Amino acid sequence: MISDEEALKRFSLRKRLFAIVGQVDNGDLPAGSPMFFYCWYCSDLVDELPEDYTTVPKRYCDECSELISRKLLLEERDRVIYPEFDTL
Ligand SMILES: [Zn+2]
Repeated sequence: MISDEEALKRFSLRKRLFAIVGQVDNGDLPAGSPMFFYCWYCSDLVDELPEDYTTVPKRYCDECSELISRKLLLEERDRVIYPEFDTL
């Protein structure tokens, strides 16, 4: 298992990468298009579902899920990245 410091470093790199890659705005797609869902933390693509999806889309990528389980991402989020959110 990688260290906490290394895991956070990788998270930071993912965030920067996916900020550059950008996201599909589902609202811009024509009717019938699949819906794209991105990790709440790093914006990696985590789910692609049909427009009439009935399952709950994934919220987090596997890497961020690991950080959440280690309680690292919450601290990082509260401190710097998503200061507008107070609770999960
Ligand atoms: Zn993620």
